[in-house]
Amino acid sequence: MTDVLPAQTAETTLRTVVASATHVGGRSENEDAICVAEVPPVGVGEAATEGGHLLAVADGMGGYQRGEVAAKMAIDTLREMFAEDPGADPALLLKQAFRRANEKIYENGLGTGQDAMMGTTLVAVVTHGKYVTIASIGDSRAYLARANRLTQITKDHTIVAEQVARGSMTEQEARESPHRNVLTHALGHRPKVESKLPDIFEITLLPEDRLLLCSDGLYDVVPDDEMLRALTEGAPEDAAQRLVDLAVSRNASDNVSAIVLAALPTREKPAVLETAGTGRTSFLLPAIAAVILILILAAVFFFAL
Ligand code: CA
Repeated sequence: MTDVLPAQTAETTLRTVVASATHVGGRSENEDAICVAEVPPVGVGEAATEGGHLLAVADGMGGYQRGEVAAKMAIDTLREMFAEDPGADPALLLKQAFRRANEKIYENGLGTGQDAMMGTTLVAVVTHGKYVTIASIGDSRAYLARANRLTQITKDHTIVAEQVARGSMTEQEARESPHRNVLTHALGHRPKVESKLPDIFEITLLPEDRLLLCSDGLYDVVPDDEMLRALTEGAPEDAAQRLVDLAVSRNASDNVSAIVLAALPTREKPAVLETAGTGRTSFLLPAIAAVILILILAAVFFFAL
């Protein structure tokens, strides 16, 4: 997925701004849970990792508030595992956290009988400076807005997404299907997470990139073009709230959650100053040459007389 994106063109140090919002939407309880945490820099010298963020959206499911419990368990497990070893390889740590969360939720569900079966989606992001690792199970999504284009990074683990991938359904039909939210994978539904899961994606941030994590309550009611506008136009600090407000104003029937990470350049490139300097020199040199030429011509003219 990353190879379709434009290559990095400039060496610019980034700073990141993170904002989040969640809303009960059209339900009586909010079964979404979110995580926004700092990841500290770890180690010294060449082996040091830059600091960054741990971000996640979990969308719980199950009756009698069991979805709320499942989503919170997934988020708590993530937080605990990163607190234990913040310098570990992000992809490995995310995979382990997803496995541990799955076991906890599954066991908790079993203990209360089959009727109380519960589960949750989980999309989680770890950043170290400009390096981003994303892991996902379910149909909560990660999007990247770059160069005024919105790209869905994660794949939905839904029956309709599989049908679209097989070519037996169009994207439009999938969007309108009453079964669009039926999941093929989630945390807590089976004793073990399949070995190929969670899906892992890695990207390198460029200045002005905006990364969005969200639950289906957002993208079910907000089309891509409006999502891109709300994500990129206006202050990054308000972007998550703008997106959630937009979904709520569209009468979202579900809970709505959004986390936005904006990559901002920290300084102007020194090359700009060098260009200005070169411009002044290139103006002076022809002027001096012209004066010398005029003096030579004057001398030649004078001696010719
Ligand atoms: Ca949902």
